[in-house]
Amino acid sequence: MKKVALITGAAKGIGRQIALTLDQAGYHIAINYRGSIEHAHSLQTELSQPSKLYQCDVSDYDAVESMIKQIHQDFGHIDVLVNNAGITKDSLLLRMNPNDFNSVVNINLGGTFNTIKAMTPIFMRQKFGCIVNISSVIGVMGNIGQANYAASKAGIIGLTKSVAKEIASRNIRCNAIAPGFIETDMSDAINPSAKEKIMASIPLRRLGMPKDIADAVEFLVSDKATYITGQTLVIDGGLVNG
Ligand code: NAP
Repeated sequence: MKKVALITGAAKGIGRQIALTLDQAGYHIAINYRGSIEHAHSLQTELSQPSKLYQCDVSDYDAVESMIKQIHQDFGHIDVLVNNAGITKDSLLLRMNPNDFNSVVNINLGGTFNTIKAMTPIFMRQKFGCIVNISSVIGVMGNIGQANYAASKAGIIGLTKSVAKEIASRNIRCNAIAPGFIETDMSDAINPSAKEKIMASIPLRRLGMPKDIADAVEFLVSDKATYITGQTLVIDGGLVNG
């Protein structure tokens, strides 16, 4: 039986590459997107295995629950959940609007909680499931202008550790990946001089590529990682330790 993976925010960037990589590994892909329908359609045309599109804002719990029910109905089972959807709304703390704090936390951390909560009963019945949450090195080390994003991504690491402990006895694993600076639309928003400074602080002297993250997701959900749970894998060219 082919495995099925739900990837949130899969239409672009890192999520898109995770979909392509798991498709190559033989997974059927449930592609979640919020607004980027054209990108989602174009991704679907590049996949070789059967796939389906699911429009849903992951910060809306009821919508997430309906989406997951629909995916389960469409594919018959779900094996992997990759929580990739995320946003930034950067500004210095003194200028940060409370709405900008709340929306980043509600999407990044709340969205991750929502999918895990809605998916867990299915994983428990199956006595199998794998969750990978995309955090960030910013959640590990903090960053000027990103108090909201750092809080949401640090929260994902705590959520991952707790969920892993709660559901390990049901043969469900839950890990996080903390990417450094990866070349996508999100990192394109960083201004060139800031980018140069970042590059100088990365021991491997390059930004990461979406494939660097997607390959790690493929490993964590594979049979080669069956004794790994509750971990956060930092993939950042050495930045945090640099
Ligand atoms: P991206 O290119 O901006 O893609 C983000 C994706 O998330 C988009 O497809 C977007 O869909 C989706 N999304 C946003 N809000 C959503 C919501 N409420 N519901 C469903 N989908 C939603 O960003 P990326 O760089 O690939 O980032 C992917 C993940 O990696 C994020 O969690 C990000 O925080 C994390 N990350 C990125 C970097 C980096 O340097 N790029 C570093 C560390 C961590 P729509 O376009 O349809 O809204």
